Amino acid sequence: MNCPSKKKAHTNIDAAEIALIEARIRFEGSTVVNVYECEDCGSWHLTSQGDINPRLQEMIDSGALEEEIKKYEWREKYGD
Ligand SMILES: [Zn+2]
Repeated sequence: MNCPSKKKAHTNIDAAEIALIEARIRFEGSTVVNVYECEDCGSWHLTSQGDINPRLQEMIDSGALEEEIKKYEWREKYGD
């Protein structure tokens, strides 16, 4: 599916939220905060603007995101 925004398209909110959380884990300095349904292509994209996604917020609040980042960094350093 092609989108004029050139953003990566996710089929549903769930897939987009997973990608959002993955992006925050894998890319240091990632500024994506939420997902939205695109008016142009009908799929879901990530955005750096607006309110923070509740699922992401919960992971930040609980410390789960920090844990995942640590795990990811460890794997990057020492392999799997
Ligand atoms: Zn789109």
